[in-house]
Amino acid sequence: MDMEKIVSLCKRRGFIFQSSEIYGGLNGFWDYGPLGVELKRNVKEAWWRDMVAGHNELIVPAGAPSTYQMVGLDCSIIMHPQVWKCSGHYDLFHDFMQTCRQCKKLFRADHVTPMLKESAWALAWLEACTSPGASPEQVTFDSNAAFDWARKKGKKLAPGLALVRNPQGTLAALAEDLPSLQSSGITSDVLLRYAATEQKSVTGLQTPCPACGGDLTEPREFNLMFETYTGALQSDENKAFLRPETAQGIFVNYKNVLDSTRVKVPFGICQVGKSFRNEITPRNYTFRSREFEQMELEFFCHPSTSPAWYQYWRDRRFRWYLDHGLSKERLQLREHEAAELAHYSCGTADIEYAFPFCAPGEFGELEGVAHRADFDLRSHQEGKLVKDGNNLVVETGPDGKPKHRGSGKDLNYFDEQSRERFVPHVIEPSAGADRATLAFLCEAYYEDTAPDENGKPADRVVLRFHPRLAPIKAAIFPLVKKEGMPEVAQQLYGELKREFNVFYDDGGAVGRRYRRQDEVGTPYCITVDGQTLQDQTVTIRDRDTLKQDRIHLKEVSSLLREKLR
Ligand code: ATP
Repeated sequence: MDMEKIVSLCKRRGFIFQSSEIYGGLNGFWDYGPLGVELKRNVKEAWWRDMVAGHNELIVPAGAPSTYQMVGLDCSIIMHPQVWKCSGHYDLFHDFMQTCRQCKKLFRADHVTPMLKESAWALAWLEACTSPGASPEQVTFDSNAAFDWARKKGKKLAPGLALVRNPQGTLAALAEDLPSLQSSGITSDVLLRYAATEQKSVTGLQTPCPACGGDLTEPREFNLMFETYTGALQSDENKAFLRPETAQGIFVNYKNVLDSTRVKVPFGICQVGKSFRNEITPRNYTFRSREFEQMELEFFCHPSTSPAWYQYWRDRRFRWYLDHGLSKERLQLREHEAAELAHYSCGTADIEYAFPFCAPGEFGELEGVAHRADFDLRSHQEGKLVKDGNNLVVETGPDGKPKHRGSGKDLNYFDEQSRERFVPHVIEPSAGADRATLAFLCEAYYEDTAPDENGKPADRVVLRFHPRLAPIKAAIFPLVKKEGMPEVAQQLYGELKREFNVFYDDGGAVGRRYRRQDEVGTPYCITVDGQTLQDQTVTIRDRDTLKQDRIHLKEVSSLLREKLR
């Protein structure tokens, strides 16, 4: 998997473009092209069908504690500002950011170390002046090579690095500590920090800027919510926020859903929609964008069954990615350690994928599955909550009143059968549609060889999408543009088009037409040839096995329907 090749294919064939590209692009924003929009819609459609539309509430799904009901919602992006105050986003949805004093770039504080591992100058510097020792934790350092690098290549690659700006001064501190460092085992992380530190006695060891090697400021807080105003006046009272997650729209409508439908606990509410986060360091293609789409479920259940439901959703969501083609070698389910858990949660797991841009052994989050207990419903009922010992209590301001007042609406659930009144617990599987789309794209990319139009083996690029996700389901070709073949092919195309996204192509040698479809992941190519005119059969070629079968024209749509289930 080579990220550069994937990005270039995505642009060349119309999967993903940079937003506002003709004006130089806008960092953190992306557009989906004609094929990309089909792929992403298929990802969202597969999710919706599996979670909502196709859910059978009459049977107990494998592994589930019981039957359950499932409904959907589509909420507005801008909501009452109190929603974000009670949910905690207004006070807590902060990242710590650091700015580079030399190149002025901004970084999320917790991204600096992972970014350094991928940084071009850091990798080049380490390669030039270290050699691996007994273990990766015990490299050997060559200070002459480091000095040389700083005077030559470093000037271009890392102009902000202390070692480049003042090689002698910077190396002096390292030389002094080197014997003791080497005896205890010296790591590349530590070496990089020495290279970034001019005055160790004053500043301590510093972490360099991943872009230019320069000095980073202390971490400062930064709220991730985009602000806007509703109405004519840009005053504080009219300030509103673009939602940073779709989940809150579900919580504030929980009572509407209960009152307008006959759902009973346990039940889930799903939503797919745009979210916005003013990410400090958008990066890794669409992985970290400022505008993205989420696919979220809030599942409401009795507190006593919530641990079992948490396990069910965690395992089921993990399987979903495997079922749609991600390989188990690149996918992992990572349970958070107790220390990592939000204070109200009794379990959170991330579903993670080894994207090609991740350093070896590292993964990027596709989806988080969290046990949220009664935190969200209580927050919207009572007001913003904080932890007090083992309890959640309403946070109060200096005047002793709630800091952010809740809706005051009763969000308890009354169970008619048990006559019990309780605030349901919530399990939240929260997935990113763009990250899933990117993972499916990366996983699908293959280079192999297949016979060309003359039957000789030739290199090909192929996207091996699961047929359900493939942007184009089948391509229809007349073998030649004469002898009545186009007419038959066009009729078949017209019939299939009513149900499937199919593509008609009569241009060029058939082998070349296959290649064009392989490159965008079309699973089947159907060719009308001379024999079709005699016995009404066509060939259907499989993208992955390259096998061609003859089937009757009448069987094509039912075969496609079967393969796309
Ligand atoms: P990260 O730690 O990567 O910032 P997060 O833990 O803040 O992610 P959540 O708040 O759990 O993410 O959001 C749920 C899902 O929404 C994520 O698993 C991811 O798929 C998606 N998501 C979150 N932020 C972004 C983003 N900036 N760009 C694209 N997708 C995102």
